[in-house]
This record gives sequence, structure tokens and C-alpha cells, in this order.
Amino acid sequence: MPIRASDAQRDTFDLATPITRVRSVGTRSSARLAKLGIKSVRQLLWHLPARYEDYSLAVPIADVIPGQKQSIQGEVISIVSRHIWPKRLTITTATLRDDSGAIRAVWFNQPYLEETLTEGTLLSVAGKMVLDKRGLYISNPIYEKITPAKTADAGQLQHTGRLIPIYPETEGVTSKYLRFLIQPLLENLALPDPLPAAIRRQYDLTDLTDAIRTIHYPDTEEAVPAARDRLAFDDLLLLQLKALRERRQMNRLRSVRIPMDAPYMRTLVATLPFTLTKDQRVATLEVLKDMERLYPMNRLMEGDVGSGKTVVAILVALHAAKVGHQTVLLAPTEVLALQHYHTLRTLAGPADIHTALLTGSTACIDDRVTTKVAAKRTVSTGQAHIIVGTHAVIRDDVRFKALALVVIDEQHRFGIEQRAALMKSDRHASGLVPHLLSMTATPIPRTLALTIFGDLDISIIREKPKGRQAIETSVVSSAQRPQVCDFIRQQVKAGRQAFVICPAIDPAAPIAPGTAPATGRQGRLSALWAQVKAVEEEYKRLSKEVFPDLKVAMLHGRMKPAQKQTVMREFKEGWHDILVSTSVIEVGVDIPNASIMVVEGADRFGLAQLHQFRGRVGRAEHQSYCFLFSTDDTTGNRRLQAMTKTDDGFLLAEQDMRIRGPGEFFGIKQSGLPDLTMAALANVDLIKKARTAARAIMKIDPDLKRNPLLAAQLESMRQFSHLE
Ligand code: ADP
Ligand code: MG
Repeated sequence: MPIRASDAQRDTFDLATPITRVRSVGTRSSARLAKLGIKSVRQLLWHLPARYEDYSLAVPIADVIPGQKQSIQGEVISIVSRHIWPKRLTITTATLRDDSGAIRAVWFNQPYLEETLTEGTLLSVAGKMVLDKRGLYISNPIYEKITPAKTADAGQLQHTGRLIPIYPETEGVTSKYLRFLIQPLLENLALPDPLPAAIRRQYDLTDLTDAIRTIHYPDTEEAVPAARDRLAFDDLLLLQLKALRERRQMNRLRSVRIPMDAPYMRTLVATLPFTLTKDQRVATLEVLKDMERLYPMNRLMEGDVGSGKTVVAILVALHAAKVGHQTVLLAPTEVLALQHYHTLRTLAGPADIHTALLTGSTACIDDRVTTKVAAKRTVSTGQAHIIVGTHAVIRDDVRFKALALVVIDEQHRFGIEQRAALMKSDRHASGLVPHLLSMTATPIPRTLALTIFGDLDISIIREKPKGRQAIETSVVSSAQRPQVCDFIRQQVKAGRQAFVICPAIDPAAPIAPGTAPATGRQGRLSALWAQVKAVEEEYKRLSKEVFPDLKVAMLHGRMKPAQKQTVMREFKEGWHDILVSTSVIEVGVDIPNASIMVVEGADRFGLAQLHQFRGRVGRAEHQSYCFLFSTDDTTGNRRLQAMTKTDDGFLLAEQDMRIRGPGEFFGIKQSGLPDLTMAALANVDLIKKARTAARAIMKIDPDLKRNPLLAAQLESMRQFSHLE
């Protein structure tokens, strides 16, 4: 159904109409609009205001108040421009009159106004009222003409006399211009509503046309949230429908069925050097049950740092290996991949199970270092059962003989395409799709996980292995530095080790992946250098001035992988007392003897990330400590205090999300979701509604035959995500 345009826009449009067909959009402006992502009428209408300027009360001229932003309406009784040459300034002054009085309106450098706002013009203007020695005037106001066809009463004013939308702008595209384009489209707007009426009624949702009208030109600010919710609901619903569909497709795919071998599992578990926690046992069982089915598992295992996710992954991999199936375990960093490989080798189970390691710089078969080519051959022949690796496994297009299970550790550090690349069945000689187990130490609220990652199953490991002591955490001011240093020395003398984490020195640079908008390669590189610089300086300070008597080592992202490995290995073996590092040690690294975690500039990190750092210590029987040095002794400090009060990662993640918003939270920003939807991700209630609605729709109309508009939107969303 077309949008019937107003008198001003004589042509008719539908949502797909290219923006270039809208009157008064030329090639220049369409290029500028494209920068805001506006290429069609739909995108124009969905370009939502960031806020509103309240000019709703047009006051009689006699009642204006100096210093306030107000709107008035009157007739132009005179208008003149003056040039002030030395300042290259033109000042245009109009006198406006209504029944109650007269006032000056003053514009700068807009001499053409003299021509357009001639005497007798009826004007609505809005701006700041200013008092000078000649009396009151309105400074540089937005203005628009009132004509018989365009009056305040009919709600046709674009810039004055009501709540005025202020849009996200870009060079050459002002809010005024956007209002000029959008407002005429709203007048006779009749958008087809993709939501089934029953759903709209059930969840008390505004009709689409009303929502779009209201969000651009609300009668009151109070009317905005309902409109915003309605629009966000649409996106959330689509995300849910997409997830349900993908699940349905997944369930049609075929994977290897691996019947559970309980006696074998019992013997494996019995060889572990510790007893599994209940949560670990439940998670293992859930995974094994999933793998018994014909279609691929899609499970997310969430567990706080140190909760012992790795062993669960290794157990299920060994279980699959017993019957000749391959597992690949992917880690986001070289250091972590090596550690996992080491863990795997110590638990490797029966001697007839073979393993391979494959990273950017290292390759192993079982306990032998070898060439990448040789390692890859063991993968493609099926000789290696469990393959541990980094992105190199994806990049190098490794082929598998019988890949049954993909485990992705710290899954948010991998892109969707990378995951998809591994899951493609044509990479595997078997032609079957492997099962997928993703792991994360970032405790994602369940609703959020379901929304962004689709309809997956979730295992949560909340319980920590027994005997873990709480880590004593304190926020430290610079005055207490000497005491902390003494304390570190004591601990080292007692045989312990310490980590020192530094943020980047450059205050403008991002700190670590996922915490700040590292834009582009250049941004990432400069951020990396800033970190390296910070680490090198801290290393110098600590090794020369503070702890000349102790062995200090450093680790940063510019070191060669082989160097990094050496440093990590030496640290693990106890050759160094203190390791100064960038946030590269954030994920996973396991040094049981380390009992101290010092974070410099702690206020520069998010709570969830600090919690990750803290999780690097307290991994063995030693009482462990975390010292957060804050450069900011006030507000940041208050946020950091939360760290001293709880060691529940789920709780801290929730606080983090509340403070920084879900968008800032572990890279959802890169997902390409519209801002509105992003904000709605914090709205659990709305997500739940969308979820139930999606299920209801899929139940009665699984192919969306009766909801063609939803089907079309889903299709365009699919294309959109494929483009990325
Ligand atoms: P994460 O969940 O952070 O990846 P890891 O899997 O690295 O945690 O495990 C952290 C440490 O806890 C490892 O040293 C591991 O051997 C140990 N661990 C795992 N499970 C248990 C358990 N049930 N009892 C004692 N120690 C355990
Ligand atoms: Mg881990």
C-alpha cells in the first residue's frame, strides 16, 4: 500500500522508494543522506530523533521570558539586513508582531531572508529569548511560514510551535533539512502494519503508522516511549523469528550421532585429578545428550572465570574421539591455545587418542613439535582426533576427515563468519554438519543471549570448584602504593607470583578489544602501540626502581608469538616473579602459583573485564589478592568498589550492562543492530514479549505465508546480515 503524499509531495511513495525520488533530494543531498544510512523512504522514516526540543507552547509576544527557549507566532512588519564589514557579518533583523506586542528576530549571515520573509509574512519562530539594552529579541531562531495550507492547528508545522525532533545529523544534513523531508511524508501516512492485529492487541502495541508519526512529532514527551517500544518490538520480533527459523533449519541438518558411552565417561572422569562440580557434570551430560541427536547441537556454555569449562570441553571431545570422531577446540589467542593443548595433553586419556596443535606459528602432533603441513595432514587423514588451534585453523582452510564437534572458547572473540566457516559441511569429508559448543566467561543474561545468538541451548556453570578462596580485592589510592609494593615483595618471598596489568597510556586510545570503539586498522594499531608503550614503561619502572631485587618479565601484543610463549612458559615454571602485561592475559590463562593481580588504571576497564583479570589468580590453594589502582579517586572509585563487594561475575556483568549499556557490552555494537533495538536489548520485558509472540506466529504460520510483510522483512534482514 503506498503512502499517500501530502499536497507538497504530489507523487506517491512506498517504503522501498529510493530516496532520490523524493522531491527536493538531489544527487548531492542523496550522497549525504547515504552517510546516515538513508537510501530509501523507509530508512528516512526510520531515521529516528535523538531528542526533542520543546517549542510546544507558542507564547504571546508580550509574555516571552529572557533566557528561555520559546516559540512565538506573528506577522513580519519590517525586515532589514546590515553588513558589518570588518567582521564579515550580515545581521538581518525582522520585527514580528502579534495581538500582544512586537519583538525583534535576529539572524546572522542569512541575508537572503530579507527576500523570503517579506513584510506581511506570517511566521512561526522558535529560539532563545535574549535581553539587550534595546530590549528583548529572539536570537537566530528557527522559523517557518504559516500559510493557509500549513497551520499549527493542523499539526503541520515542521520546526516550531510543537515538540521538534532533533535527529542524528551529518555534514550537510541538518535536523532542519530532515524535518523538511520527513514531515510532509507523515501527513497522510498509511503504513501497512506487518504485525498481526491479534498480536498488536495482545501486547497493547501502537499501530505502526501512529508510532512513526508520534516518534517524529509527538504531542507530548510522554507519548514517545510507547512509540519507541512498538518500533523496537518489531526488530526484536524479527530477531526472534530469525532465530526460530534458523533453529528449524538446524534441526533439519544432519550431524553425526554419538551415543553416550556412560561407562567410558565414568573411567575418564575417574582419571581427573579432581572431582567435577555438579554444574560441570550437568553441563557435560547436557552436551553428550545433545550429541546423541541427529541434528547439530547449538549450545552455549556460560561459566565464570575459573569455573572449569575447559575440562568439560575436553571430556566431551575425548568421548567423541573414542569412536573415531574429530573435535576442534578453538581459542582466541595463541597463549590460550597452548594452555588448552597442555591441559589436553595431561588429560589425554587413552594412548590411542591423538591430538594436534595448530596456531599461526606453532604446530604439534601429540607431544612433538612439527610443521604445519604435517599437522594439517593428520587432521585431514583423521589421525588426529582432537585439534586445538587459533584462527589459523579457519584461515588456513584446514580440512577435516570426520569433524563431529566444534568447541569455541571465548566465543565472542570470534566473528559470526568465522563460526559459520567452520560449520560449513563442505569442509568436512563426511558432508555432515558438526555439533557446536560455544563457551564464554562473560555471563550474558539469558534473554540477551537468546536474542543476539539466536535460539540456542544454554548450560550455566555457576558453582566454582571446591576449595577456592575468595580473592581479597581492594581499590588502592596512590598514597597506598608503597604498602602494596611491600606486600607484593612479601608474597614473592613466600614463593608466589604476581601479574601487573596496564591499560594504554594514550587516554584517547581504546584499552582492549570489546571495551571501546577501536575503529579501523589504524585505530587498533595505535591502541596496540599505546599498550606496548605502557607495558614497557611499567616494566622499566618495576624492574629498575621498585623491585630491582625481583625478576620481572613483560608480555604484550607486539611480541612474536614464540616470544610470548616463552615468557608464559617461563612464568608458569616460576622463572619470573612478576609479569607485566597488557590485557592479552585477560582470557583464560592459568598460572596456579600466581596469587596477586595488580591492575593499573583500573577505572579504564569495565567491571566484567576487571573480573576476568581477577580470575587469573586464586586458581590454587593460595589466598589471592587483587589490587585495583585507580587514577581517579572519585567517581571511578565508586564503580570499582563493586569489585570489592562481590565475586559473582553474573552480578558484575549486570551492573556493567546497566552502566555501559548492552551495546558497549562485549561487542554487540558490531552486530549492526539499529540503535533503537540495541537500547531495547536492556528491556527484558519487551524481549520476552517478542519471544512469545514469535513462537505464537511460528506455531500457526511457520512459513509466514499469512504474514507476507514479516516474511519480506525477514528476508531483507537475511540479505543484510549476509552482506556484512
Ligand atoms: P574457565 O572456566 O575459566 O575456562 P578453566 O577451565 O581454565 O576455567 O579451569 C580453571 C582451573 O580450575 C584449571 O586449573 C582447572 O584444572 C581447574 N579445575 C577445573 N575443574 C575443577 C574441579 N572440579 N575441581 C578443581 N579444580 C578444577
Ligand atoms: Mg577458559
